[in-house]
Amino acid sequence: MTRKPESDYDVVVAGGGAGGVGAALGAACAGAKVLLVEKYGFLGGAATNAQVLAYCGFFQQGPNPIKAVGGAADLVLDELRRLGLNCDPYRSPTTMNWIILLEPEAVKLALDRVLEANGVDVLLHTRVAAATRTADRIESVTLAGMDGRTRVTAEAFVDGTGDANLSLVAGVPCRIGNAEGQLQAISSPIRIGGRDMSKPIDRAAIKAAFAKYNADGRWPSARDDGGIYTEVPNTGEMWWMMFDHPLPDLSSASFTKAERAARDAAHDYVALLRKEVPGFENAYLVQTGPQIGIRESRHPAARYELTGADLATGRQRDDGVAKAAWPMEDHSVAGKPKYTSIGGDGWASIPLDALRAKGLDNLFYAGRTIGADPLAYASIRVMGTAFATGDAAGQAAAQAV
Ligand SMILES: Cc1cc2nc3c(=O)[nH]c(=O)nc-3n(C[C@H](O)[C@H](O)[C@H](O)COP(=O)(O)OP(=O)(O)OC[C@H]3O[C@@H](n4cnc5c(N)ncnc54)[C@H](O)[C@@H]3O)c2cc1C
Repeated sequence: MTRKPESDYDVVVAGGGAGGVGAALGAACAGAKVLLVEKYGFLGGAATNAQVLAYCGFFQQGPNPIKAVGGAADLVLDELRRLGLNCDPYRSPTTMNWIILLEPEAVKLALDRVLEANGVDVLLHTRVAAATRTADRIESVTLAGMDGRTRVTAEAFVDGTGDANLSLVAGVPCRIGNAEGQLQAISSPIRIGGRDMSKPIDRAAIKAAFAKYNADGRWPSARDDGGIYTEVPNTGEMWWMMFDHPLPDLSSASFTKAERAARDAAHDYVALLRKEVPGFENAYLVQTGPQIGIRESRHPAARYELTGADLATGRQRDDGVAKAAWPMEDHSVAGKPKYTSIGGDGWASIPLDALRAKGLDNLFYAGRTIGADPLAYASIRVMGTAFATGDAAGQAAAQAV
């Protein structure tokens, strides 16, 4: 490992979600000097900024949970266990897939601790705002933070921003959504407190309440199944995803409209539960957001695009650096997810080239920015897989120095 004396870091990672954290840990464990930059005041990505409170992709489908992700992700799970979270596989009664249930405050603290313990420098409240590059390399990024704008140089960079914000400012061509520009639906999971825990949640009563509400309520739900719900570990709160919306484009105007609608709907939906569903008489809304859940945005050009066929056949390759094991969960139609299983042995290889930018030698992708066609994307975007692609991207970035 040789860093040019004039470079500030070996590896700069943009974004502190599962992909970015995996990348920072992967690079640091490979001996690199690493900076991770995150625009919010906490790490975790969608798990902490959009209430996505289950890690999917850690295990293969099937009657028994077979682990598909380890490495950096295990450091995170160990830290979560130390904070009292049970990270054992939990079988979702709705989808029958294996997940790990999360509590957002534990995730924030665990990620702070694990990055500090592994020597990663972290800047919160800081956004990667610009990049300078030559024909085939990024040379530096401009960070916009509380102390204004600063320029940071590094030998390699990882885009773990989910929305490909580093790739965008570095001039990498990006596809928006699928070939027709259609984006997967956005959703707004919420947390609810005050439920009578002695009564089981009555899905039939929720469905009946919404059948009435949808006829003349202000925010009819696209779901007719009562939504997806679980219990937030160690809190007694209910986690509930009932509000899904198609997203027409990536404009700030569309996001503003969606954020306002989701917030308004959350209040309406909780009031409906209070009125109509036994056990919810004293229920209250604990939290929406901080932001709405974005399933899909930009896809930066990669050297290889993983395909739905790769996953459907469980294709295994010698150049594989991570495993995709979560079924392809497509949300093209709001509120009506469609699942396609992974074939073969229940997992498919993600090759290194899917984590490498086309045309830039020192830019790597982590998490949902990696190269994937629309069907494969519906699998690889989940957080367990994002840790794995992040870990591999971080290691590759460290080796590229
Ligand atoms: C409603 C919904 C439900 C889902 N359900 C599940 C589920 O149950 N389980 C599961 O595993 N997955 C689920 N997913 C998918 C999963 O949450 C995401 O695909 C996953 O979080 C991707 O991880 P990531 O690290 O690539 O991106 P993200 O989690 O989006 O993290 C990106 C990070 O980069 C930061 N960032 C962005 N731009 C910049 C910038 N310019 N500078 C600095 N920082 C920046 C962001 O603030 C964020 O922290 C769901 C997604 C949604 C929307």
